[in-house]
Amino acid sequence: MKKIVILGAGTGGTISANSLRKKLDKREWQITVIDKNQMHYYQPGFLFLPFRFPGYKELPDVSRPIKSLLCKGVDFVSTEIIEIDVKKKRVETKSGNFDYDWLVSSLGCRIIPDDIEGMKDGYEKNVFDFYTPDSAIKLQRALERFEKGNVVLNVAEMPIKCPVAPIEFVFLADYYFYKRGIRNKVEIELVTPLPGAFTKPIATSVFSEIAKQKGIKITPNYNLGEVHHEKKIIKSYDGKEIDYDLLVAIPPFEGAAVIEDSGLGNGAGYIPTDKHTLKALKHEDIYSIGDGTDVPTSKAGSVAHFESEVMAENLLSEINGGAPTAKFDGHSNCFIESGFNKALLIDFNYKVEPLPGKFPLPVIGPFSLLKETRINHQGKLAFRWAYWNQILPCKLPGEPILTNECSPRGKKVSMLTDSSLFEI
Ligand SMILES: Cc1cc2nc3c(=O)[nH]c(=O)nc-3n(C[C@H](O)[C@H](O)[C@H](O)COP(=O)(O)OP(=O)(O)OC[C@H]3O[C@@H](n4cnc5c(N)ncnc54)[C@H](O)[C@@H]3O)c2cc1C
Repeated sequence: MKKIVILGAGTGGTISANSLRKKLDKREWQITVIDKNQMHYYQPGFLFLPFRFPGYKELPDVSRPIKSLLCKGVDFVSTEIIEIDVKKKRVETKSGNFDYDWLVSSLGCRIIPDDIEGMKDGYEKNVFDFYTPDSAIKLQRALERFEKGNVVLNVAEMPIKCPVAPIEFVFLADYYFYKRGIRNKVEIELVTPLPGAFTKPIATSVFSEIAKQKGIKITPNYNLGEVHHEKKIIKSYDGKEIDYDLLVAIPPFEGAAVIEDSGLGNGAGYIPTDKHTLKALKHEDIYSIGDGTDVPTSKAGSVAHFESEVMAENLLSEINGGAPTAKFDGHSNCFIESGFNKALLIDFNYKVEPLPGKFPLPVIGPFSLLKETRINHQGKLAFRWAYWNQILPCKLPGEPILTNECSPRGKKVSMLTDSSLFEI
């Protein structure tokens, strides 16, 4: 029996396991998924939990047992991976060793609050984050107690998981305090190392305009050095201080520690990965997908999803003696909830930044790109159902509705200086 071992049962690992299981003969191929958790979390819900958004009050609203999400014929082992021995082609875990013919790494990334002086000391006093299930619930309680003052959302450094989460958080905070009738007593500020609200210029100008209308201050080019929770200030490397009453921190990120410990990482826990084929650059029998790669696109669930499809195509081709010819173009898309029952949508890739237009169909949409609409909001709400019932079990319609390649259809390509940018 030949063996595929998949590391991590998050978005990328689950989709990969299910799509490979559907395509490979069960009598010839064993597929094993290893994850230290028993539960899979719908992480976009971590942004809604702090605000007790309708349908997002407790952890059961955003989680399901991993085992229930994997197809029949996929073996699941819940244990911590402690080493990947690429010479022996073996994964070592706290519950024994697993040999592999092919390895798919999808271990994601994690926050490191200890990297910033003073940040951890302030945790649960007046410093919170929303990047883990527990911290999202703790922030919910802190927001409930909050009556007036400065809410500062700070991004310590890039890259972060879900680069739209900071702007989405401040939009939702505006709506939350408005609904509680205390918006006039609360200042909201987004403090970021980027030159603006997002990584790409056209989207940045759209988000900045909305923030302005909502009375949200954006402080760009700010590189966090220290947090002083007793004085309630953050201080940049060049000495600029900003006061806060509640700090919503987005700490520095790194890939999984085991990647670095096994000599597979780039120094920050990310696997050097071919940005098109998704093969680990130095290891012929390893594919790398999701937040744990170093490819230059967003760390987003949509990316992990599209990458899983390209990876599966390439791995199947190699198994059948062919070459890994499928190419990932960096495709990423994401709804951005902006409060008051509206949301925006962005769709882009390595070369093409988010553009205005309609998605997925020209003229019809029904979603609008880079524009606040109620239908986008409905799409964002429906997405959780689609995630559990269509995306993870690999039951999406695919062509022509949704492809892993970023399409020019419906987009205002006239805004681009070079329309050949869509070619991979
Ligand atoms: C607040 C928030 C909002 C988001 N919003 C969006 C959104 O709107 N749209 C979007 O597309 N994306 C969004 N994302 C991002 C999305 O959730 C991630 O990009 C996606 O989950 C990445 O998938 P992955 O498989 O690479 O990693 P993950 O889904 O994080 O899975 C990694 C898995 O590896 C396991 N693991 C790690 N180390 C070990 C080890 N040593 N041993 C065993 N198991 C291990 C973990 O337990 C985990 O289950 C959001 C994320 C957050 C936090």
